[in-house]
Amino acid sequence: MPKNPSRALRRHHRKRLKRRRAHYWNGTAGATPRRAGRCLHSPASCSCWLCGNRRRHHGETLQEQRFAQTALWEPDDA
Ligand SMILES: [Zn+2]
Repeated sequence: MPKNPSRALRRHHRKRLKRRRAHYWNGTAGATPRRAGRCLHSPASCSCWLCGNRRRHHGETLQEQRFAQTALWEPDDA
């Protein structure tokens, strides 16, 4: 999405995503306007190990582990 899209474009995508995601959360995401809005901004309804942040649950990614072994990498506090 562009950095500063027009209001009309943001409204278009909001409406589009609400309609698309209405079947999320066992089909209840579109049940009320409030739930539709919540699902628009946070489609993953929980943060378990399947839905949540990968790095939090499983540690560094392989790409990060590989990069840490290269000579280019320096610790942040160096
Ligand atoms: Zn989950």
